[in-house]
Amino acid sequence: MLSIFGRASASKVTAPLGRALNSTGLTPDSVTIIGTVVSVVAAVTLFPTDHLFIGTLVIWLFVMFDMLDGAMARARGGGSKYGAVLDATCDRVADGAIFAGLSWWAIFHQNDRPLLVAMLVCLVTSQVISYAKARAEASGLSADGGWIERPDRLVIVLVGSGLTGIGQLASWEWLQFALPVATYFLAAASIVTVFQRVLAVRNSAGARDIIPIQPERNRIEPGQSS
Ligand code: MG
Repeated sequence: MLSIFGRASASKVTAPLGRALNSTGLTPDSVTIIGTVVSVVAAVTLFPTDHLFIGTLVIWLFVMFDMLDGAMARARGGGSKYGAVLDATCDRVADGAIFAGLSWWAIFHQNDRPLLVAMLVCLVTSQVISYAKARAEASGLSADGGWIERPDRLVIVLVGSGLTGIGQLASWEWLQFALPVATYFLAAASIVTVFQRVLAVRNSAGARDIIPIQPERNRIEPGQSS
């Protein structure tokens, strides 16, 4: 949803940052990897140990850092297909680590089983929402849109974890409900998004075309076995 509010206006900020990072000698792929590794390490160490506020800050910073790979590639005149696949793969790893770390927190710090279930729903749907789109595109179809894309997901969960972290530090009990509220909302909206994407595929041009049977034996349709 956030993507409808100007990628163009965001690029005014990211384009100079991308050029600056290029001049340090870093490559877009190395920025992708550094951003992902730091986000993952923070998510699986700080969240499970109940450091929600500092964990949120570190993850926010390095998720933003990881978003500069595209700006760097554009400043270099374009990125590679490998870079695009690496970027998308690393995004899935980072999202998985964030919800895994928060799942651990929900069950071992809060002993909150419904919250654990909502975290796991967020974890699975974060992967499925993007897989549906990637798989649709591999078949020449489109599954764009839906309520929850990656920027929405990250804003919702990290605003929730950051506010709950502040609530813990300040001992404001009322603010500590922020992450559960954000998580239940995100889980419900993400389930809706999975249906929105499947419907978008169903309605896209050529979606009901019959795939001709290939003459080769033992042929495996891409994605069929995974
Ligand atoms: Mg990236």
